[in-house]
Amino acid sequence: MPAPYEILVLVKQVPDQSSKAGINADGTIDRAKAKRMLNPFDRYALQAALFTKKQYGGNVTAVSMGPPAALEVLLEALEHGVDKGVLLSDRRLAASDTLATAYALHKVILWLGKFDLIFCGLQTTDGDTAQVGPQIAERLNLPQVTYCEDFAIENDKAKARRIIEGGLQYVKSELPLLVTVANSYHQLEYKSFRGAWKVQWLQRKPDELKKYITTVDLDVVGALPDRCGLKGSPTIVAHTDKVGEIGGNCKMYEGASPKDLVDELLKAANVKEYVKA
Ligand SMILES: Cc1cc2nc3c(=O)[nH]c(=O)nc-3n(C[C@H](O)[C@H](O)[C@H](O)COP(=O)(O)OP(=O)(O)OC[C@H]3O[C@@H](n4cnc5c(N)ncnc54)[C@H](O)[C@@H]3O)c2cc1C
Repeated sequence: MPAPYEILVLVKQVPDQSSKAGINADGTIDRAKAKRMLNPFDRYALQAALFTKKQYGGNVTAVSMGPPAALEVLLEALEHGVDKGVLLSDRRLAASDTLATAYALHKVILWLGKFDLIFCGLQTTDGDTAQVGPQIAERLNLPQVTYCEDFAIENDKAKARRIIEGGLQYVKSELPLLVTVANSYHQLEYKSFRGAWKVQWLQRKPDELKKYITTVDLDVVGALPDRCGLKGSPTIVAHTDKVGEIGGNCKMYEGASPKDLVDELLKAANVKEYVKA
């Protein structure tokens, strides 16, 4: 008999970069004006979470950190069939870098209590660092499978296929486990009629909605404010350059070393100075 698993999926709301809304003249994003969407990579994580539930049994809880509008991505996750959602929303989180984000999210996970699997997207389309999942695994002292494109459970152990440079790697792991899901995993299935109908209904019944989506702040999950937001974020953006409109063309560079490639790219983008990390 398959065990019922407690499955978490981390979903982030990002600006819709296909829309011009909220794009300032200097190329920066005005998040208040930008159109919003579920991070495209998180659609694969959602599919992995829902498929795991369907195949082996369990509950799926979607977790997001963001401003109140991020509730939209949790509603979308409910439409697709997750059981519950948790939104961590707190003004003190503003300007969190990946260190602070992973700290805050791991506190939500600890507050939730039991979990067997945490699915994350590979990366986001705004921050784009791919660091949050691995940092959460480290903080929770969990094994992690990154770049996962196939996932199964056998005898209470995870079996996964992950992408590595030049090939594929087949790994097994104990649970609990954190998995970052690659965009070569199966596409997210359509929303269910039942899920879409339920969300329509819940949006008209705020008290009922609270039974499905809980909004928490730093105090509720026991996160230290000094380790979140600007105070908890050592990253400094020294300077931003706009390197041209995003177009449909792609040019491949072949350099002898990563340094050569970076130098070539900087030359092509006409960047004269840059700050080394
Ligand atoms: C140099 C730099 C400076 C930045 N400065 C600022 C700033 O000043 N102000 C600001 O607001 N942001 C800033 N950011 C963005 C912010 O750090 C990131 O958005 C945030 O830390 C998440 O990292 P990421 O988007 O790179 O996620 P990734 O690590 O690429 O995401 C991987 C996965 O982790 C999960 N995940 C990530 N974030 C969330 C979330 N919020 N909720 C739920 N799941 C999540 C998702 O499953 C996602 O697919 C900055 C980013 C960088 C790189």
